[in-house]
Amino acid sequence: MATGRMNQLVVMVNLCSSVVEGIEHLMAYEKNERLKEDAVTGLLTLEENLKGFKADNSVIHETRWMAEVIRNWLFVFDQEFKNRLYRWYFSALKELRNLMTAEIERCPVCSGKGVPHYGAVFYREGGESDQYVLEPIRVFMKCRDCGNYYLAKEERGLPNGKKTPQRTKARCERLLAHIGEFASEGTMLLIGDEKSQLYKEARKAGYDLQAMSLEEAGNRKEGGKGTYRIVLIDRIPRTQDMKLILTRAAEYLAEDGILWFDGPDLDRSIKNLEKKGASMWKGEAAEVCLTDRGIHALADKCGLSVRTYRHVGTASGRLEVIARKKE
Ligand SMILES: [Zn+2]
Repeated sequence: MATGRMNQLVVMVNLCSSVVEGIEHLMAYEKNERLKEDAVTGLLTLEENLKGFKADNSVIHETRWMAEVIRNWLFVFDQEFKNRLYRWYFSALKELRNLMTAEIERCPVCSGKGVPHYGAVFYREGGESDQYVLEPIRVFMKCRDCGNYYLAKEERGLPNGKKTPQRTKARCERLLAHIGEFASEGTMLLIGDEKSQLYKEARKAGYDLQAMSLEEAGNRKEGGKGTYRIVLIDRIPRTQDMKLILTRAAEYLAEDGILWFDGPDLDRSIKNLEKKGASMWKGEAAEVCLTDRGIHALADKCGLSVRTYRHVGTASGRLEVIARKKE
């Protein structure tokens, strides 16, 4: 999920409320210039953001209208103005709610439409009514178009913020052996941490190895692009845009080079939960989870094609993919 966009919508909802509060004050303390400025700035910011989200035009216009009449003192402090203000407020909130729904239904990989797939619920004792409340605290959607899963809701402050553990030595060796089937020597770029186990093992395996942080790889204009036989992405952070990272990593590949990456395998994780009879795994959830079908669509969006892939991991599954540049 584009968490960033969702957060922006939440900020907009709060801004709507504070703008209304500000205008109510303005009506109480007539002709207060500072309150006027604040209200106008708030409304114009909202207008700008609504445009960015391609919101309904009537809401955008009404927001602009409110800003103009307040900026130019074109209103009188009467009931009619108040009614118009609250009408604007409710229509803006309704539109923001629609935008949030649309955001949840939009797949971050292919922009296709997602439907709820898995919702983990959590029992919590209710307040006064003393009843048990049941609400989903982690929801994954399945994209109907590309087949990948994405996170639509994750409640913060869950009692299990366990970090994804580092790969073991054995796992790194297996992973490198898999790469070795396609390229057993040559230049290798590891996008990730130079102190990681994977770096250590890749060095041992005899590759001509260089490391670059994810940030560096994104910022480099030309250096090293199009030259590596193998590019390896150590870990894609769970909240980052997978598509963007893969696209950038692919730029470092030589023509016949291969790109290795992995991602969480939701189907495997759910199977493990069923076995244990638990509703939610303990680790953090990633924003995108891969599927057999989905990796092809993802690779395609990033100018890549999948050469091979495999399912690994027992406790929490992962999909390891080897891809090359699309011809
Ligand atoms: Zn999709």
